[in-house]
Amino acid sequence: MSKVCLEKINKVFDGRIQAVCDVDLEVKEGETMVLLGPSGAGKSTILRLIAGLENATSGDIYLNDELVNNKEPRERDVAMVFQHYSLYPHMTVFENMGFALKMQRTPKELIAEKVLHTAKMLEIEDLLERKPYQLSGGQRQRAALGKVIVREPKVFLFDEPLSNLDQMLRKTARKQIKEILKKLGATAVYVTHDHREARVLADKVCVLNFGRIQQVGTYDEIRQTPVNEFVAGFFCEE
Ligand code: ADP
Repeated sequence: MSKVCLEKINKVFDGRIQAVCDVDLEVKEGETMVLLGPSGAGKSTILRLIAGLENATSGDIYLNDELVNNKEPRERDVAMVFQHYSLYPHMTVFENMGFALKMQRTPKELIAEKVLHTAKMLEIEDLLERKPYQLSGGQRQRAALGKVIVREPKVFLFDEPLSNLDQMLRKTARKQIKEILKKLGATAVYVTHDHREARVLADKVCVLNFGRIQQVGTYDEIRQTPVNEFVAGFFCEE
């Protein structure tokens, strides 16, 4: 797995919208960093910059100490999990999970081995022959996660992946994601506006507002000693 480092990152859209401002951030190997903040804080933009879907206006991005500013998304070996389930409706769960490997011309037996191994970890091995419409919301979520895990990316990037699920499912799903990331020893950046999600998932939390980092620390550190009123207010919302 891998570490992520952002140095003095700025992103200005259309020459005037400063979405991200002077962001310095380090995500250590095996760590889950949760980007927490209200809508418009710049969370998704930071994620897209790490993925290479946007280019920074200034600053440097390193993946495993390698400068990746000019690398294409597919060369960065990161995987994004979005809130909409990125499953192909006409394919079974097995075909969905094996698709990226098939495109890389991975031998069939190896695809089957990796898909089965991942499916077992996610406890969806009994669902491999089903199509997405035959799955519940939570099962679909796990299949979508499985699709990403089989690729063994260096870094997992989550953009509010649970916002389509109801409260009960969200609770279970966030615990499950946490367990899986720890099992994999994965490095992850996870975007949410929900501090309860941060409490469960984060090794570290980075609180953002108006594109600027307000505070970085463990959930408890930040809750107990917020550096300003914004952070304090954000953490006491229930
Ligand atoms: P968050 O994920 O925290 O809700 P975003 O990163 O999506 O915030 O957005 C940060 C700011 O950048 C917002 O003001 C948003 O309107 C603006 N923004 C994001 N993407 C674009 C874009 N492609 N063009 C112009 N402005 C954008």
